[in-house]
Amino acid sequence: MKLSDFPKDILPFILPETRNDLIYRCLGCGREHGIKKLLYTCPDCGQVLLLYDREFEKLKKIPGKTWRRIFDYRKLLTLPALKGIYRYHEFIGPVLPLESIVYLGEGHTPVIEANALMQEKAGGKFYFKNDGQNPSASFKDRGMASALSYIHFLIQQGIVDDVLAVCASTGDTSASAALYASYLQPHIKSAVLLPHKKVTPQQLSQPLGSGARVFEIPGVFDDCMKVVEALSEKYAVALLNSKNAWRILGQESYSYEIAQDFEYDMAGKVVVVPIGNAGNITAVMSGFLKFYHAGIIETLPKIVGVQSVHANPVYRYYQEPDPGQRKFLPVTVKASVAQAAMIGNPVSMPRVIHLVDQYNQAAGRPLVFFVEVMEQAIMDWQLQANRNGHVACTHGGESLAGLVAARQLGYVEKNEIAILDSTAHAIKFSGFQEMYFENRFPNEFEVRPDSTLINLPELIRPDHLEKVPAPGKPLWGEDFDCFVKAVSQEIADLLKLKKV
Ligand SMILES: *Cc1c(COP(=O)(O)O)cnc(C)c1O
Ligand SMILES: [Zn+2]
Repeated sequence: MKLSDFPKDILPFILPETRNDLIYRCLGCGREHGIKKLLYTCPDCGQVLLLYDREFEKLKKIPGKTWRRIFDYRKLLTLPALKGIYRYHEFIGPVLPLESIVYLGEGHTPVIEANALMQEKAGGKFYFKNDGQNPSASFKDRGMASALSYIHFLIQQGIVDDVLAVCASTGDTSASAALYASYLQPHIKSAVLLPHKKVTPQQLSQPLGSGARVFEIPGVFDDCMKVVEALSEKYAVALLNSKNAWRILGQESYSYEIAQDFEYDMAGKVVVVPIGNAGNITAVMSGFLKFYHAGIIETLPKIVGVQSVHANPVYRYYQEPDPGQRKFLPVTVKASVAQAAMIGNPVSMPRVIHLVDQYNQAAGRPLVFFVEVMEQAIMDWQLQANRNGHVACTHGGESLAGLVAARQLGYVEKNEIAILDSTAHAIKFSGFQEMYFENRFPNEFEVRPDSTLINLPELIRPDHLEKVPAPGKPLWGEDFDCFVKAVSQEIADLLKLKKV
């Protein structure tokens, strides 16, 4: 819609103003640092940072009702900069002028209601929010759009140039980082570090296709992360892991979209997310808190964080009911089909601890819960969902398994409506589906296929046929007629088709 066609009272708010009020705040010592330098940890104490808006109070001057109309009307814009996560510009990156924003089609992913059969199986109404329908097929694009838009801004300001962006990855961070960095050629080049043989072939193909330097490292993600941290401490590189607070800021859009998807009514809603490095759950809590404090939503939704029993340090931490006795211990991860979340020492743990407190305090009661699920349950629920119209990845299966567990534990009530994060597209993790269908899971995964979920291709090659077509060698005439007849007969028999 043309700007001139917007209602007069909303028009002044449609194009956001740029204001320079963001600062890094340290979660350890509480000190604040300017954002003109790319910082990942506090120069004073080494702790992780979050970005804060010093003028957040000003946002409250606009009533919640007006904000809701601003975001709803912005849906009608055709301006690329505001088509993605920056629809919520004032909450996501008010320092960025529109010409710095990199938009590759991220955000505003569909919310799909489960059919009656799935609702019955899972014990209540739920939706998948398909973050696999982002440009690099995972939610990581939300954070990358933010991080790379900010670096783009610094380049345009002449503050940095010739940037080398680096990240460690369980697969999706590198796919996303390489994609966004490649758009900003020739100013940015990227290098990604992956645990050797611990990312799927599809994920490996992505940064290669985007032209990044790809390094495979022995070990697991946590080992790669240490190497990248060492690089970012000693050398002039831009770190794109979720240690980078700009990533968190962009990923908050997930919460804003859920709010908007459900007409800003979060009462009786439960948001379920898988946890790996814990950047996502950090952003989800932070996003809902901001909308709550600004009066855009009146209720905070429940949040359920899910981990596999094979990579469950956050779950373990919250097993201790007495906050004073809780102690964070990294775990040694085991093989997991939720491979992108196979992380034993999550970088964002201090952020999670901080935000869970804030969240529960704001709600006046415990509203954030943690559950663990078996690898078997992750696979079974993923496959079950996808047989009912979804495109959930294994982590989406983990969310669904987590919802079922949370219902059993009484964290989620029958009439509450869940929104499950399918963090990537099913196709990225199809190798696990294949292992399941072919009963080839190595023992370490502890997954045994349920025969009712197995599905395999069937070769139709009638024995009595002498000639069948082959690529480059078609059949003709009677041979071809015989072939078509025999094959269609066999398929009709297998499907028990009735004659017309
Ligand atoms: C990165 C990732 C996760 C884990 O998210 P964190 O922010 O690291 O907790 C889950 N699922 C997929 C598909 C991912 O790529
Ligand atoms: Zn500090």
